[in-house]
Amino acid sequence: MLTRKNLIFLGGPGAGKGTVSNRMIAKYGVAHISTGDILRAEVAKGSPAGREAGAIMKAGGLVPDALVCGMVGERLKQPDCEKGFILDGFPRTIAQADTLNSILAGMGKKIDAVIYLNVPDDEILKRLTSRMNCRGCDAIYNKIFMPPKVAGICDKCGSELYQRPDDSLETAKSRLAVFHKQTQPLIDYYDKLGLLHTCKSTELDGIVAELAAVLE
Ligand code: AMP
Repeated sequence: MLTRKNLIFLGGPGAGKGTVSNRMIAKYGVAHISTGDILRAEVAKGSPAGREAGAIMKAGGLVPDALVCGMVGERLKQPDCEKGFILDGFPRTIAQADTLNSILAGMGKKIDAVIYLNVPDDEILKRLTSRMNCRGCDAIYNKIFMPPKVAGICDKCGSELYQRPDDSLETAKSRLAVFHKQTQPLIDYYDKLGLLHTCKSTELDGIVAELAAVLE
């Protein structure tokens, strides 16, 4: 069981936030709140929010704070968040972090720890451009580092794998630049609050073991 159960995963695009989150939710049963996944679902539905976000996401920019914060505020009210939650890809700006504090304070909750996955830029670009996502479930693969058993097919659900359009080299570079400019200041922000844990391990099993030691 996690004693520190309300978590933020911080890190550049492709740092492994989604992959580590999937392992953590399987192990601890906490809720996974990925703003990227929520937004992609809205884009697929063609909802007004999805229409607003789609072009921005395609270009690798950040969707307006108010839109994302509204979605997270709603998601945090769901009963599965009572056991704890992982915020994956949120907050991404100081303004989002401030809004999150207010949302959680209003619910009588707080963030217990912020996990920073620190991966060098060249490694991030390698990972992003070889990443494959499943169309049917949340599974994430990598053609080089974590290939599926059968090329192009999800091991877990058998659906087709695809490359996210924003994982092209050009868009990946833009997303990395956005991370450095708008999201990196959050490392200092949470460090000052005494909440930051920077992962020393770099591979999946090591990270999961390290987090068990820090959070259980
Ligand atoms: P991700 O799946 O976390 O890599 O997010 C994919 C894209 O969704 C990002 O490049 C942004 O365009 C958008 N997005 C996800 N989370 C946020 C956020 N917290 N704030 C603004 N835009 C976001």
